[in-house]
Amino acid sequence: MADLKWIEEQEARIPRGGVRTRFAPSPTGYMHVGNLRTALYTWLIARHSGGKFILRIEDTDRGRLVEGAVDVIYRTLAECGLDHDEGPDVGGPVAPYIQSERQGFYLKYAEWLVERGHAYYCFCEKSEDESGSFEHTEDPCRSLDPQEALRRVRSGEAYVIRQRIPREGVTVFHDEIFGDISVENCELDDQVLIKRDGLPTYNFANVVDDHMMGITHVVRGSEYLSSAPKYNLLYEGFGWEIPKYVHCSPVMRDQHNKMSKRHGDPSYEDLIAEGYLTEAVLNYVALLGWSPEGEREIYSLGELAQEFDISRISKSPAIFDIEKLTHFNSEYIRAMSPEDFARVAEPYIRQAVKNPALDAALIAQILQARCEKLTDIPEKLDFLDALPDYDTELYVHKKSKTDKPGCLDVLRRILPVFTSLAAWDAESIMAAMTDMAAADGVKNAKVMWPVRIAISGKAVTPGGAVEIARILGREETCARITQGIAKLAAEA
Ligand code: GLU
Repeated sequence: MADLKWIEEQEARIPRGGVRTRFAPSPTGYMHVGNLRTALYTWLIARHSGGKFILRIEDTDRGRLVEGAVDVIYRTLAECGLDHDEGPDVGGPVAPYIQSERQGFYLKYAEWLVERGHAYYCFCEKSEDESGSFEHTEDPCRSLDPQEALRRVRSGEAYVIRQRIPREGVTVFHDEIFGDISVENCELDDQVLIKRDGLPTYNFANVVDDHMMGITHVVRGSEYLSSAPKYNLLYEGFGWEIPKYVHCSPVMRDQHNKMSKRHGDPSYEDLIAEGYLTEAVLNYVALLGWSPEGEREIYSLGELAQEFDISRISKSPAIFDIEKLTHFNSEYIRAMSPEDFARVAEPYIRQAVKNPALDAALIAQILQARCEKLTDIPEKLDFLDALPDYDTELYVHKKSKTDKPGCLDVLRRILPVFTSLAAWDAESIMAAMTDMAAADGVKNAKVMWPVRIAISGKAVTPGGAVEIARILGREETCARITQGIAKLAAEA
């Protein structure tokens, strides 16, 4: 007999009133772009309406458990600012929030469903097969006398519990994105709800949990769309209110293929390791399948929460475009405060610049407008720790109207000026060079070009002579100019 008192107690625990959404990842060890988008939309729907966002870990597939995988989920959500109101780590009114800790619940509900006539005990050998290939119309256990079935259960016979799908009629369910979908009941199989070991199948646990947790909007990938009619029949069988379904179309690599980690498509962690900013990834991912009104594309998380509207989620699959993400990323980098940029850039700067005397914040200033991804940084700074060996042909530059003898002359004259500058700051270094150009009656480039080549040894650098000299400091700048003079003099 079903434990009705216990069921009543559970019903009484269910929070009611506001919007409650849940992100229900299975711990796989990484966060797919598609999963991140589901988490984001789920969070946005809750936040948009002042509701609750719940984290539930769906770890029923014990065979696929990955060590540390739950931490990846916590870390990613926290990094992205998708804070949860209830979950395994923070608790909540309908704990526990980890499916493996809820195993005691499902059999009780399944027994109740049997009593309500929407499920039945099945003793057939082939019941081990949960794949759904079983023909319910042929299952002899479907028509067993309930008392007889109970007697066999009590006598210790092995059984599974199957859903009793009506043989006739049509099940219609509504999805917020896909509209009304109807399925002939005869196409649905009497799926297993409780396995021989007494544990639930994934589909059953999912429905029971969503109900017990008072979920109002079930947001998930459209691969679950085909399970929805059976879910609906379960809700109806229990007499429970059906939540709103929000099935999101997949994120694709191209027209025909879903993004997949196995095929080398990046996960959220991969993108971060490739130098993308979390905020840029989130903003881009938000627009993969959802479009705000108007042309605007750059949105903070808070702004997204205000704007987000389920009716603007698209039915069509979205294609992940790394170039577009890169564009978003550079926009985000440019929009950061210099202090924030310096903070995120520093680890990348230190990959290339080991000399602690060189100031990372100062270096960050020359990079902010010049990189699209943080991983662009190290290769741009390969001349700071040590002057690379360079060809004196670099001194010859048409546009700046420079030649080697002219450069040698400029370097010889600027060296004592630099040595005796009262202060080593941007204004003084700049003035030293522009004053010399003015006195010579030439363009500034004629002085700055040779200085920049001498101190960097490269034709292209982030930042010009002033910024680089300032970063290197007076001593190193003058040492490099002295080296340049020696190089050019040796050829003269
Ligand atoms: N645990 C499922 C997954 O990670 C989620 C299914 C759902 O949200 O209903 O794909």
